Amino acid sequence: MSTIFSKIINKEIKSEIVYEDNICLAFKDINPVAPNHILIIPKKEIPTLNDVTENDKNIIGHLFIAAKKIAKDLNINKSGYRIVFNCNEDAGQTVYHIHMHLLGGRKLTWPPG
Ligand code: AMP
Repeated sequence: MSTIFSKIINKEIKSEIVYEDNICLAFKDINPVAPNHILIIPKKEIPTLNDVTENDKNIIGHLFIAAKKIAKDLNINKSGYRIVFNCNEDAGQTVYHIHMHLLGGRKLTWPPG
C-alpha cells in the first residue's frame, strides 16, 4: 500500500526537499518538533523496520550517509543531532513507509517521551 511519502517522491505532493539522489529523498517535516526536523526516506517502499531485509542493507546504510551530509549542511553536525526511526504503533509510527527523523538545532532531552 503506497503512502503519502510515495506521492512526495513522485512530486505529486509538494515538500521542502533538502536532499535527493537515486536512492533516497530528504525533506522538511511538515510538523517540526525541533528547529531542524528532516525526514530521510528510501525511494523503495518499505512499510516498517520489520520489513527490512538483507537486500536492503545498502539502502539503510545510504540513509545514514545522507543524514550525515544533511547534518553538516544544516550546521548541526558539531552541536549534535538525533536520528529516530519509529516502528509501529507503540513507537508512534503514522506513515507506513520507513523514514529516518533527523532532529537538531536545540538541546534534546533523554529519555524520549
Ligand atoms: P512517524 O510518526 O514516525 O510515522 O512520522 C511521520 C512524520 O511525517 C510526522 O512527523 C509528520 O509530521 C510527517 N509528515 C506527514 N505528512 C507529511 C508531509 N506531507 N510533508 C512532510 N512531513 C509529513
